[in-house]
Amino acid sequence: MTASLPRGSTIGILGGGQLGRMMAAAAARLGYRCIGFAPEGDNVAAALCDEFVTAEWNDAEALALLAAACDVVTLEFENVPVEAAQAIGEGKLYPPPAALETAQDRLIEKRFVESLGGRPAPFAPVDTPADLEAALARIGMPAILKTRREGYDGKGQWRLQSPADAGAIDIGDGGLILEGFIRFEAEFSVILVRGQDGEMRSWSSTRNVHEDGILAATHYPAGALVEDQVAEAEALARKVAEALDYVGVLTLEFFATADGPVFNEMAPRVHNSGHWTIEGAVTSQFENHIRAVAGLPLGETRAVAAERIEMRNLLGREIERAQDLLEQADTHLHDYGKREVREGRKMGHVTRLVRG
Ligand code: AMP
Repeated sequence: MTASLPRGSTIGILGGGQLGRMMAAAAARLGYRCIGFAPEGDNVAAALCDEFVTAEWNDAEALALLAAACDVVTLEFENVPVEAAQAIGEGKLYPPPAALETAQDRLIEKRFVESLGGRPAPFAPVDTPADLEAALARIGMPAILKTRREGYDGKGQWRLQSPADAGAIDIGDGGLILEGFIRFEAEFSVILVRGQDGEMRSWSSTRNVHEDGILAATHYPAGALVEDQVAEAEALARKVAEALDYVGVLTLEFFATADGPVFNEMAPRVHNSGHWTIEGAVTSQFENHIRAVAGLPLGETRAVAAERIEMRNLLGREIERAQDLLEQADTHLHDYGKREVREGRKMGHVTRLVRG
């Protein structure tokens, strides 16, 4: 049994977005203090942290001060530069820097998952026009060209339907990956938590609906189509967590296809498709993440008794009328407090439980 962090200890959170905000709320409830850390921006986690450091990721002095002030450090943003994570120091940062390194590059991530027996979409690295031609000849069309690094919510992606689409692409400096287009029946994710002692628990998979590459909604129960594929996907997620000696919440996204689950991508953090667990599970992904990094016993992950649990993201100006949704029974609004309302920006979410 690992020693747990005593109450009043300080947890550092790298990243300042809504995931950090919800993490800090869970940490406060467990009696911990939080210090957030992120570069200048609309850092909505700051309002829920006891302190917030605004500094660049390459500010070695600020990172050293953070490490010294915290008993343990975690992250809510997977593009924290690996050097910044390493500066916190091995053994003080959960999840470990190796998880970040793997998840930050779609090529490394897919090769890693393949080495563990997982099945991603057919893929090929693309750094030159000749690479693209060769990759398209092997993989065929339709296909999706993605940046290897820093893409999220469908950004940094180009769908290629025809040779004309491919011809119009400027490869630029390369650093791309071509993926075969998967004809999926549904999308789902496996969200698990791994404690410092290696214990793992996972939440029920929901059916995830994306619109324009952005998660729009999650549905529980996910339905037979997804449920039949969860065991295989979960076994892979567990292997990934073991191989990385992971601590905290880990997410793997999948396509449910006629041939079984196809791995899409992983996130070394709590995930938008797990927001339903705040009201919909015995222990939320945020609370279990904090429990894991603090060395506390993990909480039960099963869903509370409900016929259906639906989480819907509130994008852009949808936040302005969100309070009206509270007229529906058992509906819970999470407003992230973002100042700038931009089209397609995740401003909040709403979870509705339908009890039988
Ligand atoms: P990503 O940022 O890679 O998760 O992509 C965002 C969304 O785009 C996914 O959730 C899918 O809906 C869609 N997508 C991404 N890659 C593929 C693929 N290889 N085949 C089909 N759809 C995809």
